[in-house]
Amino acid sequence: MTQLDCLSEVPSECADGSGQRSVYLTFDDGPHPIFTPEVLDVLAQHQVPATFFVIGEYAADQPKLIQRMIAEGHEVANHTMTHPDLSICEPSEVQSQILEADRAIKSASRQASVRYIRAPYGIWTEEVLITVASAGLTAVHWSVDPRDWSNPGVDAIVSAVLDSIRPGAIVLLHDGCPASELQPDNDASLRHQTVAALSRIIPALHDRGFVISALPRDH
Ligand SMILES: [Zn+2]
Repeated sequence: MTQLDCLSEVPSECADGSGQRSVYLTFDDGPHPIFTPEVLDVLAQHQVPATFFVIGEYAADQPKLIQRMIAEGHEVANHTMTHPDLSICEPSEVQSQILEADRAIKSASRQASVRYIRAPYGIWTEEVLITVASAGLTAVHWSVDPRDWSNPGVDAIVSAVLDSIRPGAIVLLHDGCPASELQPDNDASLRHQTVAALSRIIPALHDRGFVISALPRDH
C-alpha cells in the first residue's frame, strides 16, 4: 500500500501469529458513559481485543474509560476532536482536529500511544491523508459495516457481520454517537442493539474459526 492509502482490511501476511483467520473489531464515536462500559464488559467476558476510535472531546470528558480501555488491553485511536466532515474543513482545522484529539487521548492516559486514525464518516481526502501521515498516524477504514448506528435490529446487525466476514476483515461498530447526531430522547437506548449484537457476534465468529485480533503494529 502507498502512504496515502487507508487500511480497509489487514493483509494476511501482516496478521499476527494467530494464522490466516484473524478479524478485527473496531468501535467508533465513544467513549460513552453508559455504552462503552457495556461494550468493554462483553469484550472482557470473551477476552477479545478491540480498537476504539474515540472522539477527543469525549475522551477529555471520560478519562477513566480511556484508562480502562488501555488497562484491559484495547487500542485507543483517533477519531478527531469533534467529529466534523474533514473534507469541508480548512487545512488548519483538519490539522487541529487531529492533533487536539491526539493530545486529549494522551492527557486522559499517559499510557496511550495513538497509532491509528479513522476519519469521521469514513470520508478521506488526499489532504486528510497527508496530514495523517505527517502526524505519524495510520489511516484505518473498515470492510464490514452492519450500520449498527441506525439501530436496524440485533438480528440484522449480527447477520450483516456474519454474512460478509472474511479473514482480515475490519468490522465497524459504534459505542457512542457524535454530539451533532445525539437526539435528546434516545440516550438510554442509543447503542443497546450494538451491545446485544456484540455478545452474539463474538461467539459466532469463534464458532466459525475466526480469531479476533488486535490491529497489527506494522502492515
Ligand atoms: Zn464516527
